[in-house]
Amino acid sequence: MRPTLYNNPLLAAFTREPSPNLAAEVMRRDAYTCQYCKVARATEIDHVQPWVQGLTIASNLVAACEPCNRSKGGMTPAEWEIAKRRRAAYTAALRKRVVRQRPLRKARGVLGAPRRPTLAELLRG
Ligand SMILES: [Zn+2]
Repeated sequence: MRPTLYNNPLLAAFTREPSPNLAAEVMRRDAYTCQYCKVARATEIDHVQPWVQGLTIASNLVAACEPCNRSKGGMTPAEWEIAKRRRAAYTAALRKRVVRQRPLRKARGVLGAPRRPTLAELLRG
């Protein structure tokens, strides 16, 4: 048989896209569940060690949902952890600022914007 990307295991291991058979095997192994959030139904296959560093072999592939896969991108699991922690800290800082601003906005709403007196109010004196 002529070697192709899919019937030669060595070539397949260096190819980014897993073969349909390998993708199906990984999906079955992971029960079609995202292995990162363990919640969403997986629609994609992710390289745990990014493809540029890792291989396209079952032990380096997991089923993943699209949001997790997009978020992880080309990061290693360790890099992704750091990125997620940084994002959480940033979101918390933003939220704190919003909490501080909220009473101000509410107070302004209660007092109402200064308004020009109506003609009737002016004539009444
Ligand atoms: Zn997920």
